[in-house]
Amino acid sequence: MSQLLRSSATEARAGPSLRLYIGGGAAKIGEFWLAVVGRTRSSSLENSPVHIGGETQDPTAGAVSGSTAVSTNKMVRMINERGESFAYSAEELMARGLNRWRGWHCTAGVENLYVTHDGSIYGAVCREGGYIGNVFEVNFYARMKYVKCSRRYCTCGTDMALRKFKRLKNRWEAYQLKPTDLEVEPARNYVAVRNFFQDQIPPKQVLWDLGRRCNYACSYCPPATSNRIEAHKTLGSLTQAMNNIERSFLKGDLAKFIFGGGEPTLNPDFLDFVKYVHGLTPKNRPQENHWIHVTTNGSRLPEYYLELLRYAGLTFSVHFEFAQMERFLEVIRVLVAAKAQDRQLAEEDRQRAEVERQRAAKESQCGAVERQLPEEERKALEQNRQRPEEQHHLQWRYLGIRIMVQPGNGPQAEDLLFKLRQIPHFAANAVVNVSPVLAFSPEYDTDFESAVPNTYSETERSLFD
Ligand code: SF4
Repeated sequence: MSQLLRSSATEARAGPSLRLYIGGGAAKIGEFWLAVVGRTRSSSLENSPVHIGGETQDPTAGAVSGSTAVSTNKMVRMINERGESFAYSAEELMARGLNRWRGWHCTAGVENLYVTHDGSIYGAVCREGGYIGNVFEVNFYARMKYVKCSRRYCTCGTDMALRKFKRLKNRWEAYQLKPTDLEVEPARNYVAVRNFFQDQIPPKQVLWDLGRRCNYACSYCPPATSNRIEAHKTLGSLTQAMNNIERSFLKGDLAKFIFGGGEPTLNPDFLDFVKYVHGLTPKNRPQENHWIHVTTNGSRLPEYYLELLRYAGLTFSVHFEFAQMERFLEVIRVLVAAKAQDRQLAEEDRQRAEVERQRAAKESQCGAVERQLPEEERKALEQNRQRPEEQHHLQWRYLGIRIMVQPGNGPQAEDLLFKLRQIPHFAANAVVNVSPVLAFSPEYDTDFESAVPNTYSETERSLFD
């Protein structure tokens, strides 16, 4: 592992345009993961130029829907009472032990929902505040009040980026204040937390595990979150659930949906469901589409992912125990090429429009009358106008690769990094995140349950019997 990390640091120095992050999502693993990330940092990354974890702030690689180009996940802004703020990735917060907000007011359930594989709804992955309802039932009531955090640590990256504040009076810092960015970390008297891109992202978020069915069976994946037998949910039941979420939680607001599983793309209706969600018009922002992000293991064909990328940002998790590397690399090649081509077309359009604008300005100065464009230019302009709306959005769609590295996988991970870097235009169109993982502990489920009493739904509880 340390060999990989050393090598990663070298990669980052060698190629300044390659965005490489160490760390990764670790929902539910809690202090176990904190120890891993902490140890990784202190032993291998001291004085390293490699940024630990998180996602990019570079709009050119950002996740986007509609017309805003930003990356949205897991960059957390911590604000003190003077309005000064400092940004951390979720993994940095973990590694520094700053992810502790016991007694704070949190917007879990008010601005965010977590939906489990059986449709159970909680305010966040931490399940603070308890069970809210089920998306497959017509009526559930989203929380109207902030939850008071009772956890020792906030351990999921998505949870960490939720808005929260120390006392009720600190709502000002959490909601209204325009914080100033500090380059040097201030004293740790933080009173509010916001997503780094809070002003650009949708006001609501739904993290939704659509089912547990997966074609892999990774040794570190808890059986409570994946299996090979669960029936797929039908398109009808998913759209009905979506309508329930709209009625009881979104209420016309724009939202970001993060779909996971199991492996969500195994469901034959998944693509149609994504198109359905994308096509819904939020009443409060009718010009925009809901933001969608999908986490997948990359085992579908390139054409499938190309279609999916038109509607959603993608994170590919690479699991060495099962991934077919050549096939996976082909998927990434196709997606990167599509994004690069779209970027190129957008630039050509921009240049053409600029030439046209200058020409019009010049002609109006000279008092010239209307002038016919040459036939070729007129056709090109016409073609551009007819291009589907999404085409130029492809360049902005988030494309992330998260390499899951168990002890002993270091050489494979290095090899994969090397091959990814060989893909033309890769650095400008994708983000790599390296996630150290250890073996899954068989006691994990019961440990987690005893740490979080009475917050599981009936169906989930049966998993432990
Ligand atoms: S653990 Fe995190 S998400 Fe959950 S209530 Fe506490 S601060 Fe909020």
